[in-house]
Amino acid sequence: MANDYDIAVIGAGVGGLNAAIAAARHGARTMIIDMLGAGGQVINVDRIDNFPGPAEGMSGFELGPMLQMQADEAGVEFALDTIETISKTDTGFRVAGADLDLTAGAVVIAAGSAKRTLGIPGEAEFEGRGVSHCASCDGPLMRGKDVCIIGGGDSALDEALALVPHAARITVIHRGFHLTASAALQTKAREASNIEIKLNTIAIAISGEGGVSAITVRDLSTGTESEIPCHGVFVYVGLEPNTSFLGDTVTLAADGRIVVDLDMQTSMPGIFAAGDIRARSVAHLAASAGDGVTAAICAVRHLAERQGNTQQAEPRFAVVAPAG
Ligand code: NAP
Repeated sequence: MANDYDIAVIGAGVGGLNAAIAAARHGARTMIIDMLGAGGQVINVDRIDNFPGPAEGMSGFELGPMLQMQADEAGVEFALDTIETISKTDTGFRVAGADLDLTAGAVVIAAGSAKRTLGIPGEAEFEGRGVSHCASCDGPLMRGKDVCIIGGGDSALDEALALVPHAARITVIHRGFHLTASAALQTKAREASNIEIKLNTIAIAISGEGGVSAITVRDLSTGTESEIPCHGVFVYVGLEPNTSFLGDTVTLAADGRIVVDLDMQTSMPGIFAAGDIRARSVAHLAASAGDGVTAAICAVRHLAERQGNTQQAEPRFAVVAPAG
């Protein structure tokens, strides 16, 4: 029995959208599914400086819809759902969610990651009432207020910089002796007059009444604990891959990310992975876009090989007719 689609892409972030665009442009009937909408995590990024294109950078709010329009133009179908299982069939895979139930010859998993939490007292209690994972969204609420950022990677400094025009004082709290963010971000953060960086320090509790009023920190060298008064705490302590729905369908690395080869092929032939959900990803947008294209083209080749079409330079798919 024919599959509903040649390729199903799970996750409509930058990796997934680029996979879907490449798959459709290679003639594959392509469905992309996301639980929220097109763009993924990038939608909340205030300014992207390191994606190929405009020298002046762009916002994630612009990039997501641009990619979605490109996918629409290429003939990609889009569905909103949370995928719960992927199972093997005779002709490919069954992809099932809360509402959807479809079959596809190959699958590209590009479901991305979720932001890690600290697990300290007050973090869950004040979520949405001062504790946030989105400085770009909540920055305007912090106008003239003091805020703290936890983390020392690219996300922490990106978001600290997004808060510069809004907050009075921004304290970046990092547990290590050295920030791990890119040199460019570190330079910008050190140049900002309202950013202070506290190294070798951990957050141990968030407190307040009704909303956040302080964070308690511990200096790891001296063990001294102190309170920093603030109205907002922005947590950027890394990412957890969204792989829980996969069960044992594909092999995961020790950090929970999907093991792939150079074709973005997982341990299950016909299932590919792209973006920061795959092991050893550098988690940059341009790299995720490249992963997506590699995964899509290798998925198309996989389908062509399954159809006994290995001698042909181009796979045997109906070419999507140009619009109009
Ligand atoms: P990340 O690079 O993994 O950094 C996480 C930071 O949080 C590190 O400073 C880490 O400290 C700290 N941390 C982890 N667990 C902690 C805990 N329990 N308590 C306190 N601190 C903790 O995460 P990310 O910044 O979200 O970036 C994720 C990936 O996306 C990276 O590959 C990054 O390059 C990429 N990214 C790129 C851009 C960009 O291109 N502009 C923007 C955002 C993200 P340790 O160093 O001590 O572990």
